[in-house]
Amino acid sequence: DAAGLRSVLRDLHGAGYGRYKTLTGDWSFDGFDLEVQRVQPDPYAPASRCEVRVHPGTAGLPEQLRSTPVRARAVAGFLVRAAEHRLRDSGLRVDAGRQQVLDRSSCQLLPGGGVRLRLGIDLPGRGRSIDGRAAERALCDRVPDVVEAALRYATAEQDRLREFVESVEDTDALREELAARDLVAFVADGAVLPRRSGVDERPLPGAVPFRSPESMRVSVTLPNRGEVTGMGIGEGITLVVGGGFHGKSTLLRALENGVYDHVPGDGRELVVSREDTVKVRAEDGRRVHRVDVSPFVSHLPTGADTADFSTDNASGSTSQAAAIVESVEAGAGVLLVDEDTAATNLMIRDARMQALVAKESEPLTPFLDLIRPLSRSRGVSTVLVMGGSGDYMDVADRVLMMDSYQAREVTDRARALAATPTGRSREAEEFPPVRARIPAPSSIEGQRPKVRARGTDALTLGESTVELRAVEQLVDPSQVTGIGLALVTCVRSGLLDGTRTVAEVLDGFGQRVAERGVAGVDERYAGDFAVPRRFELAAALNRLRTLRVAA
Ligand code: ADP
Ligand code: MG
Repeated sequence: DAAGLRSVLRDLHGAGYGRYKTLTGDWSFDGFDLEVQRVQPDPYAPASRCEVRVHPGTAGLPEQLRSTPVRARAVAGFLVRAAEHRLRDSGLRVDAGRQQVLDRSSCQLLPGGGVRLRLGIDLPGRGRSIDGRAAERALCDRVPDVVEAALRYATAEQDRLREFVESVEDTDALREELAARDLVAFVADGAVLPRRSGVDERPLPGAVPFRSPESMRVSVTLPNRGEVTGMGIGEGITLVVGGGFHGKSTLLRALENGVYDHVPGDGRELVVSREDTVKVRAEDGRRVHRVDVSPFVSHLPTGADTADFSTDNASGSTSQAAAIVESVEAGAGVLLVDEDTAATNLMIRDARMQALVAKESEPLTPFLDLIRPLSRSRGVSTVLVMGGSGDYMDVADRVLMMDSYQAREVTDRARALAATPTGRSREAEEFPPVRARIPAPSSIEGQRPKVRARGTDALTLGESTVELRAVEQLVDPSQVTGIGLALVTCVRSGLLDGTRTVAEVLDGFGQRVAERGVAGVDERYAGDFAVPRRFELAAALNRLRTLRVAA
């Protein structure tokens, strides 16, 4: 028990560091249990891991705060942030995340009303010997303190907790409402879209708040906030135009993040996009394995079969074509594309270029001619930022102009301009169904390859590294760890068994998580991870240098 742990640590004071491993196991405290799960072998190794399980009676969370999965995730998101705050400068660390409220292993509400918190601790040493006094302060004083001050409803800041939960619940309800209204996204009036910098995701101070154009304004009644108004972006093809630096990419980035719920005060609490929204971009140098890119690419000079296309070093255009096809294969219903990160030759081919370079000598069919078939026959909407070419006015269902950070609808003017023909001829009429690929279990090498995230830029899985820099909807390193664990789990659980298609594997994984929560991702891993979305899981699978496809 707690007194026992104290005396053990006193006895260990000054002993060899390796003796710390005798702490492994359960210690029962007043109101909670502490499990020491993994002890580092030396002071320089990755932190040791513990789990705190607060008893239901001590946690005291009202039933109503944990009555739905969304509320439970929000409560956990609040508690873990409170714990992180309380543990500052304690040598104990929790994975609280930042602006997004993700389902993460670091904090979970348990069935019955308990709370589980997972901690990392650098067990204190003096050189190679145990500093038992410092360890005692951390484990026997700071841990009970964080339980008392951060993980109990009785002592929590209950108003802030309620506000947090209601905000997340509203975000979620708003996102659920999109499909019923044939919308792909919603940006509330008053939302703050720009961030401080590329490495600081907090809201930009002094930003111009969002205001919806009247023609696109919709009003939605939310369970907690009541009625809110904002811009509804409909299904089909939405073109975002405007001068450079006027806020186009900022709007699109907010839509990319709209698949996540944001903490109160973020500015994007009421900026949502459908959960099947996927940002696609060019990514030269990536691997592409057996993807049918033939809608976009035909007769390559190398003679390669573009209906079954593989390369270890894709060009900008083929990488983007592959990203689009792979996203549709994984079940995307909405694509987001920004001219800043797109391959120009995949996006446009104007009348003059059509006249100069015969179709026979141009392998590429531009997205311009496929965006409509993709929407009409495959039901995939697109929101596209394109300030550099007017040709997309021919195919857009609506055109939005960003002008000094203000959105204006300019569909009518764009229609009038599009009435004058450009002389360009259409290069495609159809977007054929995407061929479903069947990944082989041997794509994941080794029984339990070591999973490690390098920020949100890369995943190492055993011997191989998966580049994820261009997978832009990854927002948290713990998602990357979650992807690595999920890939291994898909194979070990027999989901990825060489008979199921990519979409079937993703469906199966989604079902596992729906049934078991974070344990559906991994049951034994003691470190921190977050539940990944199916699209980022697919993106990682597709970028594995060892991916093999059976059919
Ligand atoms: P574009 O894609 O149209 O060239 P960006 O979206 O990249 O423009 O925005 C240009 C700059 O303006 C960025 O530094 C961004 O942070 C800033 N910005 C965007 N929206 C706002 C806003 N609503 N208020 C203040 N600054 C903004
Ligand atoms: Mg831009």
